[in-house]
Amino acid sequence: AKNAGGNQPAFFAPNLAEAAEQRRHLENDLRLAVAGGQFELYCQPIADLASRRVTGAEGLIRWRHPERGLVPPDRFIPIAEQTGLINEIGLWVIETACRQLADWRAAGIPCYLSVNVSGRQIPNGLPPAAIAEAMQRHGVSPASLVLEITEGVLLNNIAEAQAWLQAIKQLGLRVYLDDFGTGYSSLSYLKRFPLDTLKIDRSFVQDMQVGNSEYSLVEAIVAMARSLGLKVVAEGVETTEQLGMLARMGCHHAQGYHLARPLPPAEFSEALQEIDRR
Ligand code: C2E
Ligand code: CA
Ligand code: CA
Ligand code: CA
Repeated sequence: AKNAGGNQPAFFAPNLAEAAEQRRHLENDLRLAVAGGQFELYCQPIADLASRRVTGAEGLIRWRHPERGLVPPDRFIPIAEQTGLINEIGLWVIETACRQLADWRAAGIPCYLSVNVSGRQIPNGLPPAAIAEAMQRHGVSPASLVLEITEGVLLNNIAEAQAWLQAIKQLGLRVYLDDFGTGYSSLSYLKRFPLDTLKIDRSFVQDMQVGNSEYSLVEAIVAMARSLGLKVVAEGVETTEQLGMLARMGCHHAQGYHLARPLPPAEFSEALQEIDRR
């Protein structure tokens, strides 16, 4: 409800209490979810723009709540981060990604899988040794597992983050910088970190029109990334036009509803064949 009577705290108190109550519920349920196996890792195809083939996928977590149904990550990841549950969830994501990669390999699907890592997991919540152990147990090659981090990770706690990143690189994993363009770092600064790929945030991709500022921005990011030897993934690609613009700019990879939505693993291989036939 909109406030008409000034900002007496009493006016807001019931809503705040309600919100806090809801949050406590969610937090409780989240603990049960971690223990009870209520998560799924959906996979969204990522295509190579030059060959027009799907070469990888991003793993995106879903929570199948027994009463609320499918809860999107934006509703529970922040709570998981605040409560520390993100560490357990993050290890589940790595374990599930490795199992998925082993399944794909057995099925002859040569895709890499990139998973999201929260800044809160770095450096102690996601020990490189734990990742190595999961990969080994599932017989997964490090080249097929990618971690997506955001630049905040690099900007805060630089020394520790850098050591963690070095250890990850030593394992042979690739690291992508997610949501690029929404933060503050410059490309030349990023070159100091052992990153492979930038993911251009979907807000820029979706607003691109030939000649507008989003278009120029994406074009500039792609050009500068290329000259620094970095690869670029454009996310949130929803139209043929966007795909065409990105291909002309020399963007390497695309991800978005135009190719496919995030899919339950059982639907992934069929979708791949459908996309590759186009
Ligand atoms: P993100 O990493 O930026 O993931 C991309 C989001 O864009 C996903 O939302 C995806 O479904 C959505 N998306 C993909 N293509 C399109 C498109 O063409 N149009 C539009 N409108 N959206 C598109 P989702 O799955 O709801 O995930 C939201 C965020 O939650 C992710 O943003 C990521 O920050 C976080 N997240 C997801 N899974 C995990 C996870 O396993 N661990 C952690 N720490 N965070 C995760
Ligand atoms: Ca991501
Ligand atoms: Ca992103
Ligand atoms: Ca995002």
